[in-house]
Amino acid sequence: MVICEFCGKMETGSDSCIQRFEGQIPFGGEPNDWTFGDFPSSCGGCGVAMGGLHHPGCEVERCPKCLGQLISCGCELIEIPLSI
Ligand SMILES: [Zn+2]
Ligand SMILES: [Zn+2]
Ligand SMILES: [Zn+2]
Repeated sequence: MVICEFCGKMETGSDSCIQRFEGQIPFGGEPNDWTFGDFPSSCGGCGVAMGGLHHPGCEVERCPKCLGQLISCGCELIEIPLSI
């Protein structure tokens, strides 16, 4: 089992991560260019449920600026500091 360093939850099967930057796109809010037939009920990259925020490093997560793959696009995003 992998624990997310950011939110402390299990990376597989958790509902959502914590919002990390402005405009973050939750799983299910990605642009409609899926090549899958059926939309999966949980993220294939990090395991969050539909509508949840991806865990850092998820290869499915999209960048809110360019809508490309977040882990490879290199855009500078406005980070939201942890409130705890
Ligand atoms: Zn997380
Ligand atoms: Zn994900
Ligand atoms: Zn980007």
